[in-house]
Formats: sequence, structure tokens, C-alpha cells
Amino acid sequence: MSGIRASAGVPAGVGRGAMRPLDADAQRRANAEAPRIPHLLARIGELFRPHRGALVLTVALVLVSAGLSVLPPLLTKLAFDDGLFPPGGPNVRVLLVLVGAMVGLWALSAALGVWQTYLTATVGNRVMGELRLRLFAHLERMELAFFTRTKTGVIQSRLQNDVGGVASVLSNTVSSVIGNTVTVLAALVSMLVLSWQLTVVAVVLLPVLVLAQRRVGQVRARIATRTQESLSEMSAITQESLSVSGILLAKSFGRQQAELARYAGENRNQIALQVRQTMSGQWFFALVNVFLSVVPAVVYLVAAALILRHVPVTAGTIVAFTTVQARLMFPLLGLLRVALDLQTSGALFARIFEYLDLVPAIADRPGAREVSRELLGRVEFDRVSFRYPDAPPTAPPTLDSVSFTVEPGQYVAFVGPSGAGKTTISYLLPRLYDVADGRVLFAGDDVRDLQQVSLVRHIGLVTQETYLFHASIADNLRYARPDASDAELEAAARAAHIHDTIARFPDGYDTVVGERGYRLSGGEKQRVAIARVLLADPAVLVLDEATSALDTISERVVQAALDAAATGRTTIAIAHRLSTIVGADRIHVVSEGRIVESGTHAELLAADGVYARLWEQQTGVAATPRGRSHPKGGAAGLVRP
Ligand code: ATP
Repeated sequence: MSGIRASAGVPAGVGRGAMRPLDADAQRRANAEAPRIPHLLARIGELFRPHRGALVLTVALVLVSAGLSVLPPLLTKLAFDDGLFPPGGPNVRVLLVLVGAMVGLWALSAALGVWQTYLTATVGNRVMGELRLRLFAHLERMELAFFTRTKTGVIQSRLQNDVGGVASVLSNTVSSVIGNTVTVLAALVSMLVLSWQLTVVAVVLLPVLVLAQRRVGQVRARIATRTQESLSEMSAITQESLSVSGILLAKSFGRQQAELARYAGENRNQIALQVRQTMSGQWFFALVNVFLSVVPAVVYLVAAALILRHVPVTAGTIVAFTTVQARLMFPLLGLLRVALDLQTSGALFARIFEYLDLVPAIADRPGAREVSRELLGRVEFDRVSFRYPDAPPTAPPTLDSVSFTVEPGQYVAFVGPSGAGKTTISYLLPRLYDVADGRVLFAGDDVRDLQQVSLVRHIGLVTQETYLFHASIADNLRYARPDASDAELEAAARAAHIHDTIARFPDGYDTVVGERGYRLSGGEKQRVAIARVLLADPAVLVLDEATSALDTISERVVQAALDAAATGRTTIAIAHRLSTIVGADRIHVVSEGRIVESGTHAELLAADGVYARLWEQQTGVAATPRGRSHPKGGAAGLVRP
């Protein structure tokens, strides 16, 4: 909807089907196969590509730190064997040099660590920000049908919770994986240099840990997916219940307790999942801790056995070996933790990529053109048939071979029973949906051959439900044309018969309209919406039941605003009240998805068909064969030459 010069916000169809199970769309159209880990890693790697420079620097820093970390244990061995216990007694000078070297090394490592953290935090957060932006931009390109199918809260949750969920992993993973791998390798090298026999004892049980980690990771990934689904559901409930419309509905039906119960149920589910998520790794880490604590003790036993067999093992070797081993513990734990986190965040990445992989059903064709100026304002439907994507296949088509033409500047109305397909006709023109069969032509071109932005720039849609942002009236009007001057705002508001009302508000055009415009009356909102369309100055105006909810006086004001808006442009009006369209150049009567009658008001009355019956029902006046009937109340309506 973003590009439509519109007072359109939530079209009438939106919301239908919103209670369907989550993300049917995503499941149906996203990559069919479940994302495999290498594929996923490649895609995650792709996200980091623009930050290669910072990453290379990070890797260099990590390598230097890791390289430096090999030295202290070796210095420890020297401190013991050559400083503290050399054959001739302690050598203080050697000891001082060695201790000084150790302090210097640790200080340098600490400084490098801070720099490295800065780099990874920057890269991680930038990558996450870019991902969030890509997802937002992609969702904006999705067709209207996607939004009628998916709960708003669920979409919000993917943008916030899922992207947020991978944030920490993104910023920690790079340095953690590289740093810890190098430290572990360096520690292993130091251990091998010190004693290969003791090293074998120290690492013999590591494969068990890796296997255990894989199992725990799978469980955690499953729980993470369920946790995110539950979070989505909670966002959806919040969005539905605590929005202005939601709370209005709940209060008017006294359903607050039921809403609370719905939220409480999901909240309980969320608590249980979070506890499971936290606990699923605990046994594993406890096992790792026991393993890492027990191995040094085993080393003493093995060392004793080696000494008894006259293998040369010095006290310095044993102290240095156990020091390295203790230092192996944290990087090893870190690596196992990252592996777990990656598996967990893999589930979140899969959810994000699932949305990114959705193919917008309606997009510009390669080589799509701008709207031609020559026939600007001409609209033609050529044997158009259409069925909503979610409609059951057995249901009859929503529109069935609908054909009509509106010449530039004409006023054409559509009337007919509720559910006949009138609003659907208005959706096909700005390509909110694409036809199943036939063609919709705008300015002589099939709308599918036109650039959508160029197309919607010329179409102003005033929908059944008016959508205003929680912002000032001026900001709402400028949505249509951000560069409009104050004088232009006022001119549009005057034409839409709303200026005087706005001027009476203490803050005038700076009055904040409240969430979705709830601080304005229905008629006021509609007139602000009409002013907004006037400011956009489209060639074609589509008015969908704009006056249906108003009393007679408000209706007259809004109708006057609409008449002003229609002047000088092509207008397609969808109307329930026939009194508002008696002066239309042409009236099409729609029934069950087909145009069943067409003509002027007089011609249709004379035809004595569906229109004449509708007229009789609404006015109580019998339609005469010559069409001389007049509305009972003499309602204001568009009367054009
Ligand atoms: P009204 O005068 O009550 O606004 P209408 O003539 O404008 O009715 P449409 O809104 O065009 O009717 O709806 C035509 C048919 O399409 C109806 O049967 C409706 O239930 C169905 N429909 C509308 N929107 C959707 C949707 N998003 N998904 C599936 N079916 C839909």
C-alpha cells in the first residue's frame, strides 16, 4: 500500500482471514525444503560480506591474542624450572624478567581484547540492523493478500523478537569462534610440547562432549522455534487486544477477562518454554564442568605413573600442563556454548530467511513502463475474472468476466448487493491483487506492464475504513505529499470541507488525531482522508462507500467534499445509497461478480430491472418506465451535466 496516493489504510478486505493459523503463506511459498545447516551458514556468512575489512582486522587481532596466549604457560615452566627451582637455588633476576614478561603479555592481551570487542559489537549490530531493514523492506513489497492472511503481531514479532534473538549471537559468535578455536589449538600445542602422554589423557574424553553438545543443540533449537512462535502469538494477542479497536471491542462486549485468560494461557506457555530453554543446557554444562575439573586430578596420577616408569616429567611440566589445561576450560566451554547458540539461533535465522524468501506475488515486470500521459485517467476492465487467493477452489469466482470503460473525466458508479464484488473491482486497478483472467488497462496499458509506483501515483483510493496515523492532522495530510506547503494543506482541507472544523481545534492543524484517528468523528476522519487525496491530486479517484456510515447532515458535507474531489478527474464511485450517484455518467449494477446492468440513472430506471428494484427499496418511490422517479428526501448527490 505504501505507494498509493491514498486515504486508503486498511481496505475493507483486510482482516478477513486474519485469524487463520499462523503463516500459512510462509509455509506455502517459502523455500520448500527445510534450511540445511551448511546452506544456512552460507547465508549467514553472506550477511557479513560487506564487513569483510572489519572482520579481517578482528581475525588478525584474535590470532595475535591467541598467539600471545601460548607464551605465558611456557614462561610458567621457565619460571619454575629456571627461576624458582634451578639446580643452584632460586634465580631472582631470571624470575623478575619472566614475571615482567608475563605482566606485559597479559596487559597487551587485555587491550587487544577491548579493541576486538568493539569491532565485533559494531559488526554484529550493523549486520543485525541491515537484516532488520532488509526484512522490513521485503515485507513492504509483499502483496496485500499476505497481510490479510498473517496476523500483524506475528509480523512484528519476526522483525523484533527473531532478529533481536540472533543479535547477541551475531555480535559474539565471530570473535568467540575464532578466538576460542585458536586458544584451544594453541593450548593443545603447548600441552603437546610439554608432554604428549599427558595430552592424550586430557583429550581422550572430548568426543563424548561434542556428541552430547550436538544432542543438546538439537533440543534447544526445537525449543527456540516454539519459544519464538509463542512470542509471536503473544505479540499478536497484544496487538489485537490492546489496540484502540481491540480494546473498544473487548470493553463493549465485556470480554476483558476472556482476553486476559487468552494472554495468560500463552504467558504460561512462554514461561514453561523459557525454563526448558534455560534448563536444556544445564546438565550438559554440569557434565562439562565435572569433566574439566576431574581431568587435572587424573593428570597427577598419570604423571606419577610416568615418573615411576622413568619418563622425564619435571614439577614445572606438571604445573605448566595443569595451568594450560585449566585455561583450556574457558575457551572450550565458550566453543561448546557458541555451538549451542548457533544451533538455537539457526532456528531463528531460518524463521527470518523464511520471510525473506517469500516471493511477492505482485511486483514490477522487467521493463515495466511509466504510465502514459496521453490517455491519463482512462480505465478499462477487459473481461476480468478474479478469485481471492484464499477462497475455496469450489467457490464461484469473485469477479466473472467484468468489462467496462471509464473515459478520462467521467464519473462512473458501481452499485449492487453486499458481497457482489464492488470493492474487489477497486482493488484490481492499483494492483492490490492481480486478475486471474482478462486485463485491467490504465491509460491504455495493462496495469501489469506498468511500474506500480507510477501507477498508484495517479490513483487516489478513499476506502470504506479511514486510516489515519497517530500524528498531527498536518502530518497525516502530508503523507500524500510531504513537500506540500501550509497554504496547500489549507486549500485541500477547504475543498474537503474540513478546514473550519480543524481551525476550531485549539491546536489547529497540529492537533494529534490519536491512534488511527480515533479522536475525530467518523465524518471528520473521512473528510481529512479526502483532503489527503486531494493533496495527492490523482488523475483517478476511487471512492468506496465513503458516506455509508454517516447521518444525513454529515453525509451531505462529506458528499460535497467528494463532489469537489471528483471535479476534473476520472471518478469510480462504489455506492450503497443510490441517491449519491444519480448524476453519474454511467452506473454499473454488480451482482454475484458480474455486471448485470449498465446505463445512466434514467436509463436504468426505464429498464425496470435490478437497479429499479434497488431504487424502489431505498426511496420507497416506484420506478416509472420513463425513469422520472426522484428520491424521497431529495438527498444531496452528485448531479453532473
Ligand atoms: P460490500 O458492498 O458489502 O462492501 P462488495 O460488493 O464490495 O460488498 P467485496 O468486498 O468486493 O464485495 O467482496 C466480494 C466477495 O469476496 C465477498 O463474497 C467477500 O466475502 C469475498 N472477499 C472479500 N475479500 C476477501 C479476501 N481477502 N479473501 C477472500 N474472500 C474475500
